[in-house]
Amino acid sequence: MDIHNPGWLKLALYCEGLRINDAARGELESGREIMRTRAGLGSGLEVILPPNLWTNVPVEESFCAKSPFVFDWQDGQFYVVHEPSTERVAVKLAPRPTWYDDHCSSGKLMTSIGTLQGTYLGVYPTKVCEFWQGKDKENCKFCSVGLNLGSWDAPEKRLDEVIEVVERARSESGITYVDFNTGHYDDESFLDVLEPIIKEVKRRTGILIGVQTPPHSNLDRYRRLRDLGVNRVSFCFEIYDPERFVEICPGKNRVYGLERYLDTMDFCASLVKRQNLNEPWVTNGEIIAGLESPESSMQAIDRITSVGAIPTVCVFRPLIGTAFEHMEPPKTEDMVPVFRHLYEACMDRGLPIGLAPNIHVSLVMLPEECQSLSPRAGSLGLLPRDLQLGIKRWVFTNKFKRKLSRYDNQRSHAALVH
Ligand code: SF4
Repeated sequence: MDIHNPGWLKLALYCEGLRINDAARGELESGREIMRTRAGLGSGLEVILPPNLWTNVPVEESFCAKSPFVFDWQDGQFYVVHEPSTERVAVKLAPRPTWYDDHCSSGKLMTSIGTLQGTYLGVYPTKVCEFWQGKDKENCKFCSVGLNLGSWDAPEKRLDEVIEVVERARSESGITYVDFNTGHYDDESFLDVLEPIIKEVKRRTGILIGVQTPPHSNLDRYRRLRDLGVNRVSFCFEIYDPERFVEICPGKNRVYGLERYLDTMDFCASLVKRQNLNEPWVTNGEIIAGLESPESSMQAIDRITSVGAIPTVCVFRPLIGTAFEHMEPPKTEDMVPVFRHLYEACMDRGLPIGLAPNIHVSLVMLPEECQSLSPRAGSLGLLPRDLQLGIKRWVFTNKFKRKLSRYDNQRSHAALVH
């Protein structure tokens, strides 16, 4: 595999990082600034690889200094150059959203409420994860959330601010999906905080909504989320090897345990029986490859897909300031079988991957982006599944676009009346 294989390049850049040369550094202002994203796993440069793979490439961590990849600028064009082979690929910077320098009516900078990760909006509307608080911190060892976030925002402001940012991101960046993410709170208030926001965002914009929180003890809350129009729930258990889970995620292990993550994921995946293409419902199990053996990551993928959930697989990044700052990222060649398995397992189970329109994710490899890692891609064996997916994608995209334009028209009309 080489730099011209899109899946391989996205994966190799996660594992090896990128060195930015002086020519490219001078041209960086046109893109999004390098910011520590608050998902706890990303910190890099937002780049669009051909044919249209959005990614967040590590550039600041110490391992990047020995990367074989260089970010270069020549004749008005950015390139990723693979120095050992001298091969290069033309790439673009993710455009900087027009609203990134603006403030909410409350005075807060809009990027302190939400930022684009690829083409979707990530919002962290609550206080910092409580595993980061107190003197005996129990935060996950790879996580940088507590290094980035400030303190609790005034609750009465929060809804207004989130709505303002979502509406700007919808009208100016064309987002079709917003993801709400919280950490752990001892009183399990994470869904209580999110529900009013979800209701209002859905009512005003009709866009797809995802929720990523720890597993709530009351499973009925997930039926309610489904009824509110939530389209995706995600459970980040991170590590499938039980011993590594205890070691790496002490807080998650003490409060929830791996089994509760898996049981809640199973329950939510079972709600798909009520699936309809007007308001789809997807369950994700999220893991980090590179913090356990590739075999264990592949077992996790099998466990997740066995119940009809879709794996979200991140690549471990030793972020500056975290407990794992001095560890090495995984090797590309060890990761290729994991991500190939991700694509093949989803296709074998006929899971609905890649259905939602205009969602490009920069912090993970989507299963459909791993297609070019598989020799089975495009083979006769997978053809019926490819066809089925293509038809579903077409139906859903058309329905969804019509629905969003109705909401957009209603909002423009309301703005004119006012
Ligand atoms: S639960 Fe773990 S990964 Fe999530 S925010 Fe808290 S410390 Fe970070």
